[in-house]
Amino acid sequence: MKELTSLVRNNIQQLAPYSSARDEFEGNGEVFLDANENPYDCGFNRYPDPYQRQLKSKLANMKGVAPSQLFLGNGSDEAIDLTLRIFCEPGRDNIIVTDPTYGMYAVSAAINNIEVIKVPLTERFDLSASSLLSAVNEYTKVIFICSPNNPSGNSLNMDEIDKVITSFEGIVVVDEAYIDFSTFPSYSQKLDRFPNLIVLQTFSKAWGIAGLRLGIAYATEPIISWFNKVKPPYNINTYSQQIALEKLDEEDKVRGQIAEILAQRDRLQEELKKLPIVMEVFPSDTNFLLVRFTEAQKIFRYLVDREIIVRDRSKVKFGANCLRITVGTPSENSKLLEALKNFNI
Ligand code: PMP
Repeated sequence: MKELTSLVRNNIQQLAPYSSARDEFEGNGEVFLDANENPYDCGFNRYPDPYQRQLKSKLANMKGVAPSQLFLGNGSDEAIDLTLRIFCEPGRDNIIVTDPTYGMYAVSAAINNIEVIKVPLTERFDLSASSLLSAVNEYTKVIFICSPNNPSGNSLNMDEIDKVITSFEGIVVVDEAYIDFSTFPSYSQKLDRFPNLIVLQTFSKAWGIAGLRLGIAYATEPIISWFNKVKPPYNINTYSQQIALEKLDEEDKVRGQIAEILAQRDRLQEELKKLPIVMEVFPSDTNFLLVRFTEAQKIFRYLVDREIIVRDRSKVKFGANCLRITVGTPSENSKLLEALKNFNI
């Protein structure tokens, strides 16, 4: 890996970060007259902890990392955007993404005026480290790898991911938004081995609080301190911090929901395969299935007419005639299967 600071954008290296009122005071205060808040308590009249110390401490404990190796974002989408803003010079640098993959890497890059190089996965949605690495040029700063991958649902080969991380001299982001549904180990346990690694996870999927917007980035402390310099001071609101803390106490309940979702995924997989309109159900390590139909767009519209909304992925690379279906509750899945059984009748 190149020396970290040399990967950071010049203007970010020069940045004097904003210092918030709650940054400058640490300790026990009783009378807070430092942040121009309304003094009358309604539970939310004070600014939130800018570094989410309580939440990070609990999360770090659970995940086996140090709190200083964690950044929390307003969804992992914020961590994606900040990664680009820390490392990529607009109008000059580029990122590499696989094709297909989660769309926000490219959208966030476009917003930041950063070029996107797309490298196709294989037709079975596998990763080839050599083809990814052969796309690297002197302006490539970040490679995004999503595993398990959205929208294909499969986990990518870890030997190939390791090769990318060890061979590339810039930053590699491994997005593990769906890791809680997978049996693969998390790259968050490999920070000591890979100083150029950023691992993303989220509270939006298995943890069930997408509406609160809370994403996690794991990285070595020097990378996390760059995140802390560029992030908006109070990016995680008080309510999200409180509810996430409560959620972490409900780990057993969440594990139970994951088990139920996985059982329903197996059921959907089996039942879908029996339908004459289904050509293929791709293997999944996630809470969704990519399904190839005989005529995806017709079926998509048919389902919309019945108020069942799935995601049309027929335009993505290797996704011809594919719909992406999230696993719902048992009764929601039954409604979907019933509707699909009646298609064309
Ligand atoms: N990464 C992947 C692979 C995703 O599929 C998504 C959401 N669809 C995200 C990140 C964004 O998650 P968040 O809600 O934490 O912003």
